[in-house]
Amino acid sequence: MDIPDSTFSEHLTHWASLRRDLHAHPELRFEEHRTADVVAGELQALGYQIVRGLGGTGVVASLPGTDPGRAGIVLRADLDALPIKEANDFAHASCTHGVMHACGHDGHTVMLLGAARVLKQMPRLPGSVHFVFQPGEEGGAGARKMIDDGLFTQFPTEAVFGMHNWPGLPAGHFGLRTGPIMAAGSRLKITITGRGAHAAQPHLGIDPIPLACSMVLQCQTIAARHKDPVDPAVISVCMFHAGDTDNVIPDRAELRGTIRTLSSTLQQKLQRDIQQMCEALAGAYGAQVEVEFFQYYPATINTPAETAFCEEVIRTTFGDARIRNDIPANMTSEDFGFMLEERPGTYVLIGNAPPDRASPSLHHPQYDFNDDVTEEGVRYWVALARRYFERA
Ligand SMILES: [Zn+2]
Ligand SMILES: [Zn+2]
Repeated sequence: MDIPDSTFSEHLTHWASLRRDLHAHPELRFEEHRTADVVAGELQALGYQIVRGLGGTGVVASLPGTDPGRAGIVLRADLDALPIKEANDFAHASCTHGVMHACGHDGHTVMLLGAARVLKQMPRLPGSVHFVFQPGEEGGAGARKMIDDGLFTQFPTEAVFGMHNWPGLPAGHFGLRTGPIMAAGSRLKITITGRGAHAAQPHLGIDPIPLACSMVLQCQTIAARHKDPVDPAVISVCMFHAGDTDNVIPDRAELRGTIRTLSSTLQQKLQRDIQQMCEALAGAYGAQVEVEFFQYYPATINTPAETAFCEEVIRTTFGDARIRNDIPANMTSEDFGFMLEERPGTYVLIGNAPPDRASPSLHHPQYDFNDDVTEEGVRYWVALARRYFERA
């Protein structure tokens, strides 16, 4: 079914002003109360029944399919902003000091609202389309919370689809890949307990500082030598705290850092190796050590059949020139990986860079979502939902 251009173009002004309103009123993870109210208001005005409260501030609307026995698909957007002080001075800059939509989730929200509007005007599809507006993507694992609150039991789902804007790609181009597209991430905390002493009498104590230094360096050896070189990993020790003055050997040292990998298997192996290394080194020094890992996001892993399907949707909707089907995986993390652990699906990147200038990166204080790509994002969602159920 061909969709007339006016179906999209007549709403562009509304979508841009809605996006700018959300940009001006950013809210941090799980505090997206106003944002959820705006989303709910839009959906209800379109005639949707909505469910609120999954994951706290989540909002879900469902377009029911004609076949009650058929599961639906999830189209997912994220709602939250970041604790960043915005450095833009345009009219829609953040009104909330120290909070900013620096990851474009304002744009994601509006693109999905646009798809909900357009699909509502079209003939019903065999299966349901669940529009999922998820809270707490930025470090809150909101996707996991929505699943734990019954997302897939309340809304039976056979496949999940996500989209993130990407300033490194030209506006309106799409990037995807089969397999991991974003990394699994965990936080690392190493607490070393030695024995304090006078700085001039180190033989009377157990100095935790040289031991901690060895552990930092050994982490880099683990990242370089304990894994297949073509399987990426990053271990970054980013905090090193010990001591209060210059003439006392402290009792304790604490290290904190981050581990990123493209597979959960490698993530677990590196954690095991770091644990063993820390315990062995501490034993050699006669010190005690506690090693803790806080797993936050799994890798975001696109499944082959759904990714081939999304590629075909992009090629037929926008043409071959608009797709990069081998976009490199990124070591950033994304909680859509939790949804992809439960259901097959695909996470794509939509180019967001304006043609005339370089776009600031995601999480930069001068970043702004490019409203020119909203139409492409809506078209992608609409084409995906329709083709998904029209095939087969
Ligand atoms: Zn982000
Ligand atoms: Zn983001």
